[in-house]
Amino acid sequence: MRLRVLGCHGGELPTCKTTCFLIDGALALDAGALTATLPLEQLAKLDDIVLSHSHFDHVKDLPLIADLVVGLRDRPIAIHASRECAKTLRDNVFNNALWPDFTRIPSRKNPVVKLKPFRSGATLKIGRYTIQSIPVSHPVESCGFVVSDGQTAVAMSGDTGPTEKLWKVLNATQNLKAVLLETSFPNRLQELADLSGHLTPRTMRRELEKFHRNGAEVLLYHLKPAFVPQVKRELDGLAVEVLEEGDEFDF
Ligand SMILES: [Zn+2]
Ligand SMILES: [Zn+2]
Repeated sequence: MRLRVLGCHGGELPTCKTTCFLIDGALALDAGALTATLPLEQLAKLDDIVLSHSHFDHVKDLPLIADLVVGLRDRPIAIHASRECAKTLRDNVFNNALWPDFTRIPSRKNPVVKLKPFRSGATLKIGRYTIQSIPVSHPVESCGFVVSDGQTAVAMSGDTGPTEKLWKVLNATQNLKAVLLETSFPNRLQELADLSGHLTPRTMRRELEKFHRNGAEVLLYHLKPAFVPQVKRELDGLAVEVLEEGDEFDF
């Protein structure tokens, strides 16, 4: 399984892109940096996008990709979103006000994008991947995922504060090679992190105590751009890696 990091920050600047991971060039986890990083021909080949939740930094390239690839594909791009997330996108993005309803363009029968709602906690079969969604702790319905191709599994936490179920699932996952784990704010903004459902190095460290790693890599993402140096200092020898845009891994 090849994982490409298109965006791994909790905010955007010329040097930082928002959350977006590409698996084997075919499946995207979140849509924070699709049109910002991929050429048109690769965007047109993307068949499935799985969303962790509806917050803007995770969905922001959906309207743009829909517009870009209209007329270039013979079937819709499937946008897999929890029920709440799908409703938010339908009501607030593809609503013919903020943006045209590309779930009915060019035609209702064969649109350019199709929203595929799932129940938070459900397991999805997408191509050769099995994707288990796990509810995590965030102000809106947010999911972590375990993505497996039958041989290798990789997990993503989604935006989350301290949580329990995710670690239980990961501890029971075979062949787990890596966990993409959010860490957003420095320790001095702990209160803000707690209120907004995010981790700091302090709470991330406590989360890892719930995890039987078994050799899996812990790869941090969603650092807020303003605090990257401070968060890195506060990791303080912990066996984790901070992701950078452009990183690629073969698991
Ligand atoms: Zn976020
Ligand atoms: Zn969020």
